[in-house]
Amino acid sequence: MFGGYKRLWEKPTLKSSYDVVIIGGGLHGLATAYFLARNQGINDVAVIEKHYIGFGGSGRNTAIVRANQRTKENLSLYDEGLKLWPKLTYELDFNLMFFNCGNLNLGHSEAAMNALRLQVTSAQFSGIKSELLDAQQLKEMCPLLDISDRPKYPIHGAMYHPPGGVLRHDAVVWGLAKGASKHGVHIHQGTEVLGIGVRNGKIVSVETDRGNINTPRVLLAAGGYSARISYEMLGIRLPINVLTIQAMVSEPLKPLLNHVVSSGAYHVYANQTLKGEIVTGAHMDPWPNYTTQATAYYIKHQAEALTDILPCFKGIRFMRHWSGLADMTPDMAPIMDGNDPIGGYYFDCGWGYFGFKSAPITGKYMAEFISSGQCPEILKPFTLRRFEQHRLMGETANPNNYGPWN
Ligand SMILES: Cc1cc2nc3c(=O)[nH]c(=O)nc-3n(C[C@H](O)[C@H](O)[C@H](O)COP(=O)(O)OP(=O)(O)OC[C@H]3O[C@@H](n4cnc5c(N)ncnc54)[C@H](O)[C@@H]3O)c2cc1C
Repeated sequence: MFGGYKRLWEKPTLKSSYDVVIIGGGLHGLATAYFLARNQGINDVAVIEKHYIGFGGSGRNTAIVRANQRTKENLSLYDEGLKLWPKLTYELDFNLMFFNCGNLNLGHSEAAMNALRLQVTSAQFSGIKSELLDAQQLKEMCPLLDISDRPKYPIHGAMYHPPGGVLRHDAVVWGLAKGASKHGVHIHQGTEVLGIGVRNGKIVSVETDRGNINTPRVLLAAGGYSARISYEMLGIRLPINVLTIQAMVSEPLKPLLNHVVSSGAYHVYANQTLKGEIVTGAHMDPWPNYTTQATAYYIKHQAEALTDILPCFKGIRFMRHWSGLADMTPDMAPIMDGNDPIGGYYFDCGWGYFGFKSAPITGKYMAEFISSGQCPEILKPFTLRRFEQHRLMGETANPNNYGPWN
């Protein structure tokens, strides 16, 4: 207790063995730990976090959620994920601040509108609400957008996805940590995993800077650091490029932007938080990079792109900008796999800039996978083997022109 406040999660002693060790105290690690304990009855679980929980992408993202992905495998996962947020708020007894404002993905050419039409149809086919708006319908919904022929990339219309919105990322990290800890999970912050022990093709231990832990099961959920850990500690290469994404937030304004607005052509998206700030992000440095430094180039690009489509934002002041790592796979879909090629070794990574919206639902299924050793049907398409079998998932389409960037 401090000043009348109770800690949300316990600070336990590190034990010398656990049933499951999770590397990474981001949303994916915490969600899996929570569901292992809550749904699978496995509560002898340690989450090992090098810094503090939410240090990685989980505390740096812009918290946009939606389910109108491109491919059927992703559509079902993200749809279930989107529906889980309100239930989770109730279940964790913690306000995750889900704001169901809906998402608008702009189309800036006939070709882009055709790509969005295909995406809308795929979503509708899976029973997910999504519709195509022409420029006039869009203007009625979002009057701030400049639909004249002045912008560099004129706005032809948009894909509208009513069920999407935003949450507060810190609240999700804290809520999951609270829930996991309540069910007996040990969260160890300030603890670095240095090695993973394997004997006869099976996981046996994890080496940390605070001592060795014996365990038969390890989940690697280290976000942008996963590929390096997998290769350096186990010699398993993951087809992941690590890129830096940046974002920034303005001073609070009166309510004026009611949706998440996103443009693949401009590489920009923006929404207004419940506090009134304009959060904007999207540009990704195009070279592999492990730094989390923001750049002047980004700020200039972002300000120009944002104000070209939303000119009313000219002159607003930005309070903060920051960056984080995006672990990108060639098909922009994650890798969730396990027990192959090492028994007891599971991994959940390659989320790029989609890993916030999917974290709780993935945690639920990864927990089922780790508990039973059998991959749930919904996760099977995301196997690492798809890359060697040439079965890439096609979520990327043509992101430079059409892709929703969040
Ligand atoms: C600017 C930005 C905007 C984004 N916007 C969105 C968005 O709007 N919507 C969306 O869905 N996604 C978004 N994302 C992506 C999303 O944030 C990530 O995909 C997601 O947070 C990944 O979560 P994670 O738990 O897998 O990894 P992380 O949150 O990165 O957690 C990994 C953890 O592993 C720890 N770690 C690393 N090495 C070790 C080690 N050796 N030992 C112990 N611990 C270790 C790290 O310290 C880190 O805390 C955005 C990302 C960024 C950077």
